[in-house]
Amino acid sequence: MGTGPIPDSVLARLACDSQITRVVFGADSVVLNVGRAERTYTGAKRRAIVARDLQCRFPGCSAPPAMGEVHHIDHWLRDQGQTNVHTGVLICWYHHGLIHDRGIEVRRGPSGAWRFVDRRGRELAGPIG
Ligand SMILES: [Zn+2]
Ligand SMILES: [Zn+2]
Repeated sequence: MGTGPIPDSVLARLACDSQITRVVFGADSVVLNVGRAERTYTGAKRRAIVARDLQCRFPGCSAPPAMGEVHHIDHWLRDQGQTNVHTGVLICWYHHGLIHDRGIEVRRGPSGAWRFVDRRGRELAGPIG
């Protein structure tokens, strides 16, 4: 795994919610296309989340930031759209889709570890298809 800076082109897909919003970044982080800018993670917040989470945090997944998006752990409408670093988690595009498709809740435990809970209230621990 490389240790150099992550090029912005690699972060092009970082936006939540994948069902509604896509942000396309071009060279020099210029936003080329945005659905609803107020609910996206950009610039320093985006980089801070990548630096903290390093890879997809979904159980059993180690996808790099190149495949990453930021999932907003509080539902945007419920949360009034605060895009704080502590309410975003790095998730690969595949698992981001899965989280929304299956209604999986992401929470932050007391130790700072991310927890993933399905619709039935069961905590996900291992690799999920
Ligand atoms: Zn999301
Ligand atoms: Zn993943």
